[in-house]
Amino acid sequence: MFRANGYYADLQGGYLFSEIARRVASYQKQHPGADIIRMGIGDVTRPLAPCVITALHNAVNEMADAASFRGYGPEQGYDFLREAIVAADYRARGISITPDEVFVSDGAKCDVGNIQELFGRDTVVALMDPVYPVYADTNVMTGRAGKYNKEEGGYENIVYLPCTAQNGFVPDLPKRPADVIYLCYPNNPTGMTITRAQLKAFVEYALENKALLLYDSAYEIFIGDPDAPHSVFEIEGANRCAIEFRSLSKTAGFTGVRCAYAVVPKALRCRDDNGGDVSLHDMWFRRQSTRFNGVPYITQRGAEAIFSEEGRKQILEIAAYYMQNARIICQSMQKAGYTVYGGLNAPYIWLQTPGGDSWAFFDELLNTKQIVGTPGAGFGKAGEGYFRMTAFASRENTLRAMERICGQA
Ligand SMILES: *Cc1c(COP(=O)(O)O)cnc(C)c1O
Repeated sequence: MFRANGYYADLQGGYLFSEIARRVASYQKQHPGADIIRMGIGDVTRPLAPCVITALHNAVNEMADAASFRGYGPEQGYDFLREAIVAADYRARGISITPDEVFVSDGAKCDVGNIQELFGRDTVVALMDPVYPVYADTNVMTGRAGKYNKEEGGYENIVYLPCTAQNGFVPDLPKRPADVIYLCYPNNPTGMTITRAQLKAFVEYALENKALLLYDSAYEIFIGDPDAPHSVFEIEGANRCAIEFRSLSKTAGFTGVRCAYAVVPKALRCRDDNGGDVSLHDMWFRRQSTRFNGVPYITQRGAEAIFSEEGRKQILEIAAYYMQNARIICQSMQKAGYTVYGGLNAPYIWLQTPGGDSWAFFDELLNTKQIVGTPGAGFGKAGEGYFRMTAFASRENTLRAMERICGQA
């Protein structure tokens, strides 16, 4: 008899953004003329940079000619892109990563989920709370999270690392032993980032405890603080205990084009379930070669363009546009009397909800101002009492939204 994966039944509620979409659709049905402004899901709104468009067009033309046509490419990505990534994102910052440590993929969301295939049977996972729901849900699906405890508001086998106003939204080191620690900085949803000293403490913990850090720096381009770390590999020893995930989605508006990469250093070695000494780099290489056939050539040429000097300039301008929206939101919300966090190193504003109930605040904002945000509770227990607004809307819509909330922007 066929049986389905029972762990799916342990998932809580729908995917957060499906629930938001359901509530918005229901409101829209009751108020067909409503002019709803969306500051909920973290999707970008600016078009691709001109250099990317040119590169994409050129690559399409190459595909039209038998002499330059490309079929299957290397599963790990073309050398031209892996080299461009290393030069711009690592070598330029004095970090020694080699192109063959970079694995090009079609999304960081897929990568952070797929990487679990390399984990041993009894791996204990630590997650920040609040957290990007993908880390949590994919661990539930593989059975690593255990049962959901309603009273505790969490899964039994997950080590939660609360991120609160008290700790500046950077968690303390795990109090229970953890084998894998997911960190995301600059952070979604809080919009806050980590200092180099704080990151160093996590790297030292991982080296001492033979734990693995999964460092998601999808929002690296938005860092405004000159002292904030851009990569986990800026920290000595991180190449022996960390994997880094980056994405062009927020960096260069690739949410619909799809391109990301993971850096798995060759120095990263560990024990497997049978006591063998293994290389996670070799395992990931094997995994990607077997299960993945690479990112489209056209996409990789488009991606390559952002790592040129001109491309970098163009995407920084787009990032600055969103960060100006973030400043507008922070200033307006503060003026309206809200306590706000984030918005300086990431395009997210994390505000304290008056009254505490974040879904109630969601409904109120939708019903009275026709503005959609994201309730903090959707990101975990410690997210209750907070509400996420994104700076990814157009300037016009950001200003209109702030006018509705504050009377002025
Ligand atoms: C948006 C986002 C990503 C990017 O995912 P893609 O699949 O590359 O679009 C990764 N991590 C976090 C925390 C994000 O918010």
